[in-house]
Amino acid sequence: MSAKPSHLFYQGRERKPVLDQARGVYMWDVDGKRYLDGSSGAMVCNIGHSNENVLEAMRRQMEKSTFGYRLHFETEASEKLASKTAALTPEGLNRVFFVSGGSEAVESAIKLARQYALAVGQGSRWKVISRSPSYHGCTLGALAITGYAPLTKPFEPMMQMMPKVPAPRAYLDGLDPDDIATGHHYAHMLEAQILAEGPESVLAFIVEPVGGASTGALVPPRGYMERVQEICRQYGVLFILDEVMTGAGRTGKFLASEHWNLEPDIMVMSKGFAAGYMPLGGMAAHERLVEPVLDAGGFLHGFTYAGNPLACAAGLAVIDEIERLGLVRNAALMGEKLLTRLRELMDRHAIIGDVRGMGLLTAFEFMSDRATKAPLPKELRAFDRFVQIAYVKGLIVYSRRTRDGVEGDHVLVCPPMIVNETHLDEITEMLDAALAQFTAEIRPSLDK
Ligand code: PMP
Repeated sequence: MSAKPSHLFYQGRERKPVLDQARGVYMWDVDGKRYLDGSSGAMVCNIGHSNENVLEAMRRQMEKSTFGYRLHFETEASEKLASKTAALTPEGLNRVFFVSGGSEAVESAIKLARQYALAVGQGSRWKVISRSPSYHGCTLGALAITGYAPLTKPFEPMMQMMPKVPAPRAYLDGLDPDDIATGHHYAHMLEAQILAEGPESVLAFIVEPVGGASTGALVPPRGYMERVQEICRQYGVLFILDEVMTGAGRTGKFLASEHWNLEPDIMVMSKGFAAGYMPLGGMAAHERLVEPVLDAGGFLHGFTYAGNPLACAAGLAVIDEIERLGLVRNAALMGEKLLTRLRELMDRHAIIGDVRGMGLLTAFEFMSDRATKAPLPKELRAFDRFVQIAYVKGLIVYSRRTRDGVEGDHVLVCPPMIVNETHLDEITEMLDAALAQFTAEIRPSLDK
């Protein structure tokens, strides 16, 4: 831990270890302490650290050019990555726009949707319905569609907050996620919200196919995703999938939408697409949306770094590595094994109230009582404390308060897609020890 004062500031005052090197699934600080990256950073470093082929592709691009302004030049890297993205995304999503991260990609999708509505004479449509809890980004537009009070509340006077529908947390509501009636029950909430708002005012519905940071790997109940897509079509509402966290193999398919054969109007992507090698995000939009916008005078949107050739070269090389190493299949296989191990930990540790996930997007949620599903007391700051305990043991995991940001804590366990069973053993052992220590620490507060 560095003792010197820092000019940098992010979240709090607490200093962090200084990162020295990262290779594969491991990271080392300058004191030589080794960490297993059990959350791939923030579910970003999907192919592991310091992949030599990606570094080499970046070196080659750097020697050619690192920047070409998108209104002056096309580049081979961005053209190739756009073609590859169009080939990997569902039918019709043939028009691609690159940015530098997830929030930028979400902003781009909202603005494209609105410009499409204007271009086709549907200017009354402007509301973007999303879910609560959800996370779509930190910029004011993306935050307005984020359902997570601790992050949105301070800024609400400055934003046009958008309508929310409940995320389908069947495990809390005591409903069977495998029963199609459960999926339809939650999907119906979207229909009711569209009708309450007035369908002619609703522009889009945006959803994370498998919940990420805010819900902790929430897998939708059977029938839910297909039904919300149908409802969107029925009311002329654009269907936007936020695959920022789920994309690039994380859930055991290249895109989570493949689990349900979804055909969104717009898909947003980031994180795993350049896997932490460069800042990269993007949206793939259906040509039926983009053509009218271009006909109407062009897309009024852009970031200086949009389509950056170095970021695109890194993205291209990352996708090549995912394909060459069979990482999507490995994520599906290792994800199953990891879920089994987490369920075994739940058998041993009463503090775990739920285990869930898909592929290598997995999580467990703390509860003080499994029967009543009561969360741990907020004052314990379990999400924070558990991460610290695991960290000291050499395991990085990612945690957040779950339930509308007011109560409930989950821990995401999302190692890089290159993990093998030995890594999973290591993760499980460290989690086991961290859970035992955490339970011993908090037991006095629970017994009170
Ligand atoms: N959407 C989702 C689903 C995300 O998980 C995130 C990041 N956690 C974002 C959008 C925002 O991405 P970024 O942090 O790159 O702006």
